[in-house]
Amino acid sequence: MTASTTTMNAGGGAELIDGKAMAAGMTADIREQVEMLVRQGHELPGLAVVLVGNDPASEVYVKNKAIQTHRAGMKSFMQMMPESTSQEELLALIEELNENPKVDGILVQLPLPPQIDAATVTNAIHPDKDVDGLGEVNTGRLALGMENGIVPCTPLGCLKLLQSVHEDMTGLKAVVIGASNLVGRPMAQLLLKANCTVTVAHIHTRNIEELARSADILVVATGKAGLVKGSWIKPGATVIDVGITRVQTPEGKSRLVGDVVFEEASRVAGHITPVPGGVGPMTIACLLHNTFQAASRRRASTEG
Ligand code: NAD
Repeated sequence: MTASTTTMNAGGGAELIDGKAMAAGMTADIREQVEMLVRQGHELPGLAVVLVGNDPASEVYVKNKAIQTHRAGMKSFMQMMPESTSQEELLALIEELNENPKVDGILVQLPLPPQIDAATVTNAIHPDKDVDGLGEVNTGRLALGMENGIVPCTPLGCLKLLQSVHEDMTGLKAVVIGASNLVGRPMAQLLLKANCTVTVAHIHTRNIEELARSADILVVATGKAGLVKGSWIKPGATVIDVGITRVQTPEGKSRLVGDVVFEEASRVAGHITPVPGGVGPMTIACLLHNTFQAASRRRASTEG
């Protein structure tokens, strides 16, 4: 294990893995690289974010992505479409963005209205511009352990958080709770690529508590607030909490909590991410990273 500048004491024994600080550092580094690209005479990298409808949570996410894109010195193209948008209309916009040389990355905010099939839309994005990494081509590249794919932002963020604690994860036992295409499955692929022995648990898994307790690395992405108790954690384990649930406080306010009972878990774990301030900021930083990588590759390929 390595001492890291992004960890501090979580209060109950575990070191806190500070995703907010790490994400700020990544964004600053990307900004420097963007400035260098521009000094070399290249166009600014550009990210197109498409929002269909008026889901309030999606509006907040999309706005935040635009702010962070500007913070990294890149261009943001916001495409707002009405709730009534047809699949054909959305596919036509994606085709336009695929062809637009100013756009390096395309992200379609999910969920989409019921008349639109998310998989069809995701797969319509050109693989080189698929900065969410959720299309079939990038999913396949990750599954094959290839280096030329784009990795989904949340699991990539989790991997970077883990790497801030573990210089080498070879031979460690990793358990991922949650098997979604967005988080759990790509996370498992990344951990396998990092030479971990990986088990993926989900809603149908038996003896999940015992399984979790065997993990040196435990990544939890279920959306079930407080699912993982302190007793589920192996002493000294590294715990990455991806879950985000908004709950009401007794004072009538609301706050965000993770899938892990933080107070209990931080007494047992070696390292742990907080919610908020752990995986969330790293997801956006990795979106910026993916956009910058996509831009650099496109510029290199048009020069060559
Ligand atoms: P999802 O609903 O698509 O998948 C949930 C997975 O958890 C499924 O595989 C399901 O089988 C499993 N699961 C559900 N209940 C379980 C239980 N009781 N025991 C074991 N497994 C169980 O969710 P998702 O899109 O993967 O998101 C998971 C959570 O992560 C949500 O809270 C979401 O908001 C959060 N999330 C956070 C970020 C971030 O940037 N921090 C990004 C993506 C998702």
